[in-house]
Amino acid sequence: EFALLNGSIIERSEAKVDVEDRGYQFGDGVYEVIRIYNGKMFTATEHLKRFFKSAESIGISIPFTNLQLKEMLQELLIKNNLETGNIYMQVTRGTAPRNHLFPTENVVPTLVAYTIKGVRPLDGLKSGVKAILTEDIRWLRCDIKSLNLLGNLLAKQKASEQGCFEAIQHRGQDVTEGSSSNIFIVKDGTVITHESNHLILKGITRDVILDLCTKNNIPVQERSFTLVEIESAEEAFLSSTTAEVMPVIEIDGKKINSGIPGPLTRKLQDLFKLEIEKQCGV
Ligand code: PLP
Repeated sequence: EFALLNGSIIERSEAKVDVEDRGYQFGDGVYEVIRIYNGKMFTATEHLKRFFKSAESIGISIPFTNLQLKEMLQELLIKNNLETGNIYMQVTRGTAPRNHLFPTENVVPTLVAYTIKGVRPLDGLKSGVKAILTEDIRWLRCDIKSLNLLGNLLAKQKASEQGCFEAIQHRGQDVTEGSSSNIFIVKDGTVITHESNHLILKGITRDVILDLCTKNNIPVQERSFTLVEIESAEEAFLSSTTAEVMPVIEIDGKKINSGIPGPLTRKLQDLFKLEIEKQCGV
């Protein structure tokens, strides 16, 4: 197995960062996950664009161009012979004596990427998953794909301890997103998901789904919706790079659509699969 460290592809076991890396000490960095199907990156352009944008939004300048990074990731994929799985990448502000203040400009960011084998979550996609509701305790820049994930981790752990796949977060009455996914509901035949602002991550999968809705004349609304609305939803599903279009069949012990994935969710799953085939030829 190989990993990418600051522009070099090296043995993964040799890829080490310093104890004073700011990612390790402060979570001072951003990350991205790209799904690989059939050895090819799905929605690579969108993920790379978001990676650079996240970095820029916290004042980290990635010392490569978008194209250079894409080519290095491509090489990593080939070297690791990855068919189905993910590429994980992160960039931190670099290594410097511990200090809340940003280090001087000659400190270079630490960029790491590696691959993870992993099949599609077929059981969940077929039967749906359960979720809990939990208060969103995160910061107010959830639009940045920051390494600081404590709020997300606590939410996901709570869901898992209750036998659930995901925690759907809400700020007061307003539903925001999952701990590592976006959440959609269907109401009166309209697909609804939170508008993209500072309260959610603008998921790449979310964008693909919204696009598929528009192209297939499925009514959509990007707006916040309430706990009352999700509890009475006709259908619910969540989306992420790894979970794709994942039906939610139970929330806090209450069944949605009698506990089976709904028809619009199924339709979007089919359309999403076609999109994978189109881009990656699976
Ligand atoms: N929201 C959060 C908090 C996430 O961590 C993620 C992905 O991991 C998403 C949404 C979904 O984003 P994407 O579809 O780009 O994977």
